[in-house]
Amino acid sequence: MNFNKKLENVKTYEAGKPIELVVREFGIEAKDIIKLASNENPYGCSKKVQNAVVDIVTNMAMYPDDSMTKLKTGLSKRFEVKDENIIIGSGSDQVIEFLMHAKANCNSKILINSVTFAMYEIYAKHVGAEIVRTSSQHHDLEEFYTLYKKEKPDVIFLCTPNNPTGDAIDTQDMFEFLEKIDKDTLVVVDGAYMEYCQAKDTRKKIEPKKILEKYENVIYLGTFSKAYGLGGMRVGYGIADSKIIKELYKLRPPFNVTTLSLEAASVALADEEFVNDSVSRNFKEMKRYVEMTKKENISIINSYTNFVTLCLKENQNSTKISKELLQRGMIVRDLSGYNMNAIRVTVGTTEQNTKFFELFLKLL
Ligand SMILES: *Cc1c(COP(=O)(O)O)cnc(C)c1O
Repeated sequence: MNFNKKLENVKTYEAGKPIELVVREFGIEAKDIIKLASNENPYGCSKKVQNAVVDIVTNMAMYPDDSMTKLKTGLSKRFEVKDENIIIGSGSDQVIEFLMHAKANCNSKILINSVTFAMYEIYAKHVGAEIVRTSSQHHDLEEFYTLYKKEKPDVIFLCTPNNPTGDAIDTQDMFEFLEKIDKDTLVVVDGAYMEYCQAKDTRKKIEPKKILEKYENVIYLGTFSKAYGLGGMRVGYGIADSKIIKELYKLRPPFNVTTLSLEAASVALADEEFVNDSVSRNFKEMKRYVEMTKKENISIINSYTNFVTLCLKENQNSTKISKELLQRGMIVRDLSGYNMNAIRVTVGTTEQNTKFFELFLKLL
């Protein structure tokens, strides 16, 4: 059968291996498997969420509240924006999909960082758009600007902090860059790890409200999958000028977020203590990664997130090491697909990290 030609060179997104698969493949018991591959919150989610969703499970016959009022109200209060500036998706992934369809087509160019979140490229290809990448591994906004001038992209993605490298853009540099971009170019600021980043360094904090005040062509993305510990619920959001949000709404399928997910996200958003606690534990554990790698002379990228990118030496092979870790029940992310001889490890609990250090150092 012939399929849509645009899909011919789309690579399927490779999610971190689920625990279930490692159980089947290697016969390791689920309780002995540690997954540090998808930047999930190792402390789970707010206990309040667990209680709230139990009440919903008793009645699932009704469609969700399609206006998503409760979660929108929570988000608009948190970010000091209006409801009309918010769209909620099944993960912020879905918002990326909407915005690609809203803004780009087969004549478009999409400007992204050389190493960044894989879904930007996949959604770009769905609409037949061409990908333009920087050469710099870290967001070099001067290079972005040069390429913007030369290539005239319809969409620019800035991922801060960036996945899979963990580095972040300075707030001031970001705003200076946005100032130079014309109003018909959509700039996406993906803040999937902003809860971590802003706690580590306020000079890298991006507030959607400040973007909204000045730029009608910029959308900020956030998610409940990382610091809020709701990866399994699939909830993310976009915050932008109401004209952008209105266009995205044209692409939204009805009831795109389940009742359960909406409630979970609303309750999670209100429990700031849980997130703050997760974030501070994260950076405490991150210190151990910094110390371990320093001691072992392994280079890492300074991370503003809940993961660390370990750059391996020439005589070490990231694919081989990831595989060997996997056989021992430790799931991490091999970055060879990004042309990096590196592995990305989600910062886990004290116990999980200790286990990782032990296995990893033995394999080196
Ligand atoms: C995890 C992640 C997302 C979105 O995840 P969802 O689960 O779809 O909300 C978006 N961008 C980056 C950079 C991410 O790492």
